[in-house]
Amino acid sequence: MKQKLNVIISLVVLLNATLFGVALAEEVHWGYEGEHGPAHWGEMDPAYTLCATGLEQSPIDIAATAPLNPADLAFAYQPSGLTIVNNGHTIQANYKAGSTVQIDGRPYELLQFHFHRPSEHTVDGGDLPMELHLVHRNDTEGLAVVGVFLVEGAENAALAPIFDHMPAEEGEPETIEGVTIHAADLLPADQRYWRYDGSLTTPPCSEAVKWHVMPAPVEVSAAQLAAYEAIFHLNARPVQPFNAREFILGQAPITLPVTGAPLSGNPLFAVVVVVGVLAAANLVIIVVARRKHE
Ligand SMILES: [Zn+2]
Repeated sequence: MKQKLNVIISLVVLLNATLFGVALAEEVHWGYEGEHGPAHWGEMDPAYTLCATGLEQSPIDIAATAPLNPADLAFAYQPSGLTIVNNGHTIQANYKAGSTVQIDGRPYELLQFHFHRPSEHTVDGGDLPMELHLVHRNDTEGLAVVGVFLVEGAENAALAPIFDHMPAEEGEPETIEGVTIHAADLLPADQRYWRYDGSLTTPPCSEAVKWHVMPAPVEVSAAQLAAYEAIFHLNARPVQPFNAREFILGQAPITLPVTGAPLSGNPLFAVVVVVGVLAAANLVIIVVARRKHE
């Protein structure tokens, strides 16, 4: 009897350990180095398959000569309180509702911004010290991220309240009383940008992200860089193949004829051809009918 009870207890303990172990593994599995690193993300969970098989992944290397959009992103950012979290992968500030950027005539709401070290996007094969990602969402269109490079220079006053309150250890989001931040002050003065369609740079690597990467960096001090590095030495995914993608110029698809474009590329050209063919056919019918009549 006692032996039977021991077997049952052992089974219950084993079952609990298995369930708990699985739950724990899902929470902490992926990282940036070794067996948990980016090369293995695709195998860690069926939900992460795109990390290995996707053809429109991010980040990418960008040629400095890639076509650059004018500074036409309409930012309508408001100040926010500071709610900050070390989620084990990055330092993230969750933003108050009501700040948007207009893209293709649609508002995308700023949800949060976070950091990578070194930069995830590279320019002409080289990385920069850090990259800031401002993450926006439109309920029907998906995500739009604005990427800003951080380089060493003067102390960044707009980033100071964030860098002064970075939690050293992973934990839950904390709201810092009496601190106000303004995302508009995190953007460079020159807001021209490269645009392409890509993915989340972390699992599950979903391919539903409109990327806007600004080549003009903002400066942060050596001390600010060091403060971040002390918490995250490396949290950047390596660049991914560009494959059959193209950089996007202009925010809305061009549907009107463009001056100087070849006639065959003009939608009116098809109408002209159809009308012309019908007119010619009518002429032939009239001529044949007349001949028969004669
Ligand atoms: Zn990011």
